[in-house]
Amino acid sequence: MWRDPYTCTSDSESPAPAGTQAANSRAPQPAPEPWPDETRQAIAYHVQQILRLCGEDVNRPGLVDTPMRVARMMEEMLAGMRVNPDDVLSTVFDEAAAGPVVVSDIRFYSLCEHHMVPFFGTAHVAYLPSDRIVGISKIARLVDAVSRRLQVQERMTEQIADAVERVLQPAGVMALVEAEHTCMCARGIKKPGSRTVTVATRGEYSRDANLRSEFLQLIRRT
Ligand SMILES: [Zn+2]
Repeated sequence: MWRDPYTCTSDSESPAPAGTQAANSRAPQPAPEPWPDETRQAIAYHVQQILRLCGEDVNRPGLVDTPMRVARMMEEMLAGMRVNPDDVLSTVFDEAAAGPVVVSDIRFYSLCEHHMVPFFGTAHVAYLPSDRIVGISKIARLVDAVSRRLQVQERMTEQIADAVERVLQPAGVMALVEAEHTCMCARGIKKPGSRTVTVATRGEYSRDANLRSEFLQLIRRT
């Protein structure tokens, strides 16, 4: 059975019922705890040691503030470690939607846990609501929560599908992540522009090939 799809890109506002979105935007957001000052100081110290070991003059003007800058950057890029993905989706609404909810082109930046350099790209998420839905922006926040940590793309994709399945208990979930890995572009085999695609499915999306191709059409990948 073809279902009326309900799609949206992460940049646009949700076309969900006005009351739903309004209620949603008032919901408190789980904000990641800032690092204690000692943590930043300790990381900055060790970054400075690394610069020294690389043969740098850590006192030259360009590098003086680099260790603390790197510490703050890590605090930001690893903020997802201090967020429980399930909490991000905690504001749900009782609503039986007819078709799949598809949120596409959610841009993300993550850190490869093998090399601690960025991998980045877009995530696309679909679910078939059973009796509850979540604000569209929460799906994008979920992608933030699982990407802003030391990751591998495969696990990140599974974590997106798992969180949607656990919290929304939908009839099915599909997550597709496409990314470029700087550890592959800038070093090692040096293949710039290569794209890695990972897919995770749950429920109906695991069983039904038509649903999967509909998803690919909706995110304009076929
Ligand atoms: Zn890597």
